[in-house]
Amino acid sequence: MRTRLLLTVCAIFLIIQSFYGQEELNAHKKDATSYTSKANNDLLKYLPFSDQTDYENARKGFIATIDEGVIKLDNGQISYSMEQFDFIKGDAPAEANPSLWRQSELNSINGLFKVSDNIYQIRGFDLANMTLVKGKSGWIIIDPLTVPATSKAAMELVDEQLGKMPIKAVIFSHSHIDHFGGVKGIISDEEVKSGAVKIYAPKGFFENSISENVMAGNAMSRRAYYMYGNLLEKEVKGTYGSGLGPTTGYGIPGIFEASNIISSETGETKIIDGVKTEFIFTPESEAPAEMMFYFPEYKAMCQAENISHTLHNLYTLRGAQVRNGQKWSKYIDKTITKWGDVVEVSFGSHHWPTWGNNNINKFWVKQRDLYRFIHDQTLRLANQGYTPIEIADMLKLPESLRKEFYNRDYYGTVSHNAKAQYQLYFGWFDGNPSNLNPLPPSDAAKKYVQFMGGADQVIKKSLTSYNRGEYRWVAEVMKQLVFAEPTNQQARFLLADAYEQLGYQAESGPWRNFYLSGAKELRVGVNPVKIGGTASPDIIKGMSTELYFNYLGMQFKGNENGDLKYNFNLDLTDTNEKVALIVSNGAVMPRIGEFVKKDTTSTIHVKRSDLDKVSLREANFEDLIKNGDLKIEGDQEAFFNFLSKIDVFSFWFNIVEP
Ligand SMILES: [Zn+2]
Repeated sequence: MRTRLLLTVCAIFLIIQSFYGQEELNAHKKDATSYTSKANNDLLKYLPFSDQTDYENARKGFIATIDEGVIKLDNGQISYSMEQFDFIKGDAPAEANPSLWRQSELNSINGLFKVSDNIYQIRGFDLANMTLVKGKSGWIIIDPLTVPATSKAAMELVDEQLGKMPIKAVIFSHSHIDHFGGVKGIISDEEVKSGAVKIYAPKGFFENSISENVMAGNAMSRRAYYMYGNLLEKEVKGTYGSGLGPTTGYGIPGIFEASNIISSETGETKIIDGVKTEFIFTPESEAPAEMMFYFPEYKAMCQAENISHTLHNLYTLRGAQVRNGQKWSKYIDKTITKWGDVVEVSFGSHHWPTWGNNNINKFWVKQRDLYRFIHDQTLRLANQGYTPIEIADMLKLPESLRKEFYNRDYYGTVSHNAKAQYQLYFGWFDGNPSNLNPLPPSDAAKKYVQFMGGADQVIKKSLTSYNRGEYRWVAEVMKQLVFAEPTNQQARFLLADAYEQLGYQAESGPWRNFYLSGAKELRVGVNPVKIGGTASPDIIKGMSTELYFNYLGMQFKGNENGDLKYNFNLDLTDTNEKVALIVSNGAVMPRIGEFVKKDTTSTIHVKRSDLDKVSLREANFEDLIKNGDLKIEGDQEAFFNFLSKIDVFSFWFNIVEP
């Protein structure tokens, strides 16, 4: 009897845990395995899913949305769809981390909302929110979305629902494009030039907006495709958005320079269209240039992106300079001491607001302690001798922080943020001499596979690990085989399947997107699709002359051309600037504001605006010369030779294979 019972139990287990074997190694998306279902189910039991406060707050004050469910460009192309994540509703499927599923449903709630008597928000029309504050004679707009199409549609809805009022001021809370790129959808150059609309921004806003994505731009953009899941279908086994918000609108972003700059970390007050506004400047937090601000008459706080309904990034996976959790927490603490006693509503550049003084203080304190904890505990463990991968695996938030939905890993994760704080202090090297000069991935991979007994053995053993649910380990081992034998289809499929289960379990939107994007490229290869939009004219024009020539110098194929020696003088005729480009030993040194005085190879007369046209691919150097827009005195051949050594980047470089 007992034996029969045992046999029945085993049979049930076998049915639930269907065996994964060689015949499963194909390009199809797979269902969640029993291990993935269990991991997702455990989290469902752990977090307080019955608490509906976030849903209530995300819907509170709803006025209207765009009935059509899409925002279109003038040519009819869709810029943004409010319906693209409509499949995320109700109970999470086995292929979804239930916490990410919940967050993504909340993020897709969209429309115009009343926050308080004088404050309204547009949410779910783009990646970020646009906030509208009533001034004495018109609107003060905070963060006008990523592209003109979405901000324009937002403003039309506002006009229709609340009546038309002029825009008197725009506040850019920080230097990320989802907070300023849509500005030209709501105000014109004329309004800015004439001073009819005043623009406020933190110190360093313009420079950082332009520069953060230039020098490393190509590789960052390619990685951003992984991070935001641009290659993935929007469906149960695909992407759910970014965790921070749904996704960005499509179009060409613009920018204005601000005439009113906020630069005091201890605080400064401005009267904006008759409304008292108290700012604190918070550099090197979520963005290099950022600020938070409080409207005392409305008892309302704008958190910018330093306080959000997610653990944010101390390092962003697309690749960027790391951020400092200590400074970040200090700014939140300043918010608490300055406005914690009086605040009644607190809203951010993403997600929904928080109402009520007690709720807000609890939220702010736990966000403050979150960043401080990760920063300090990483350093404590590093000082004990632990290295980044160890710390990322050891570090666990205390339950009081971990159980709050707004502290969960939707965008940043405790794991990769801990590595970031290590990097902030120690850089890339963990101190182990084995890591000083390891073999490159492909060379090491071939040796590993050989040492492990060859490809067939590696696959066989990995299948066993896969059937035990050891997906992190399968990913580690199969990566070696894919790098040793990139055309080994079985290896590619098995690695893809492991990534996929890791993606299904991930609570972080970017982690899910990274894993599933990797799986997709392993299954079908890198498939260059037409990538959205051209470079934005405003961003190219906004590049300082120094940044422009630093960028040009970076593209010089120096390792092949160390013998070239040139001294070029560039005379930028429209901006009256002088630049010397000194080419020597494979490096290009721009000297801004002066010419080289001796051994000049040639002097080039050109307009900066024509150089911008070349960057935008609206012109090329040959055309400029032919049309007489570029004139060269001295050695012409040398300048052409230099230009021929400028590298061209291809966007679709490999990531998950050599
Ligand atoms: Zn943002």
